[in-house]
Amino acid sequence: MPEIQRRKTITVRVGRVRVGSEAPVVVQSMTNTDTADVEGTIQQVAALAGAGSELVRVTVNNDAAAKAVPYIVEGLAKLGLDVPIVGDFHYNGHQLLKKYPDCATSLAKYRINPGNVSVGRKNDDNFRAMIEVAVENQKPVRIGVNWGSLDQALLTRMMDENSKLAEPLDARDVMMEAMCRSALDSAAAAERYGLRHDQIIISGKVSGVRDLLDVYEMLAARCDYPLHLGLTEAGMGMKGIVASTAGLAPLLLKGIGDTIRVSLTPKPGGDRTEEVLTAQQILQSLGIRSFTPQVTACPGCGRTTSTFFQELAQQIQSYLRESMPVWREQYPGVEELKLAVMGCVVNGPGESKHANIGISLPGTFEEPVAPVYVDGRLMTTLRGDTIVQDFTKILDEYVRSRYGSTEKAEQLVEVH
Ligand code: SF4
Repeated sequence: MPEIQRRKTITVRVGRVRVGSEAPVVVQSMTNTDTADVEGTIQQVAALAGAGSELVRVTVNNDAAAKAVPYIVEGLAKLGLDVPIVGDFHYNGHQLLKKYPDCATSLAKYRINPGNVSVGRKNDDNFRAMIEVAVENQKPVRIGVNWGSLDQALLTRMMDENSKLAEPLDARDVMMEAMCRSALDSAAAAERYGLRHDQIIISGKVSGVRDLLDVYEMLAARCDYPLHLGLTEAGMGMKGIVASTAGLAPLLLKGIGDTIRVSLTPKPGGDRTEEVLTAQQILQSLGIRSFTPQVTACPGCGRTTSTFFQELAQQIQSYLRESMPVWREQYPGVEELKLAVMGCVVNGPGESKHANIGISLPGTFEEPVAPVYVDGRLMTTLRGDTIVQDFTKILDEYVRSRYGSTEKAEQLVEVH
């Protein structure tokens, strides 16, 4: 697969994580617990980190939340988790960071929204106060512009200037330009106030896919700060997943984007880690990073009238997910494993041969046998009621021999 040329950026350190073109694209997420609920937030951060989130953002919106932050970081450390925690500030961040120095020191990064840090003020003292705390504590900052809270004074001024032009731009173009200007002017101001160039990450989030592409192309062309990508307010379920993928994929393929978040709205009581798995899947589908073994499964058709094929595909997928926390530690490289679970002989053997391990199930009216291919060669043919268990055994053995130690690699195929 041709390599993607990442846009050249500086590298920013966020705790132990590096962000920028020298580092892999970082997956991040955000909690939706009340940050003041220390135990609940620790549990959710642990779940997000366990799913693979490499940075986790928490909202720091009031005194109780700011007071809770050091306890959350401490509680995570007791669990052996050193995932960097990012504080999300709006409106009152300048007050909270000053009033709660332990909060300021325990966070790994501050997210500042320039659109709401100095609302109704003629100067940027509030922004400056936050940057000064970041400088004092040597913390990086993400300057996170969001079109839902774009600096209204800047936008109004730019709209006025535009209306006086002989050939005014579209209002949308002015809005896109205002997003970029807000981010880059704030970054320049942060540097004037003492933040280092390599302590700044930029984002310009919008909720429309085409707008997202335009804003990030503009930002990418005008600076060398790492960019945090995400479609803001992506929505629920399939809509959120598809829209986020449609927005992030073209940018990532152009090498734009150094850290990503998929902002899914969970179902009530739903699993927050879905946003992490989606972000990982986007990167893995594009061949940018590998996180978990991939299963190629055919969609099934009239040739697979029983549910056996769907059940097997689902059981294998669940087995992989359950095994990965242990496998990741024991078998480095296992995330590159490719499996194929195919419904019948039409494409089954062919697709199976392209995978590390592939199984082709008997379609309706076919002989009740399931050939298994390992590294492109027919290894065995399964039959009877224990196909799932037998296949899982072959999978375990393959993972152990291929990724357990280099000497054992390839042994499985030779043995059979
Ligand atoms: S592999 Fe067989 S069962 Fe699967 S979609 Fe193709 S023809 Fe249908």
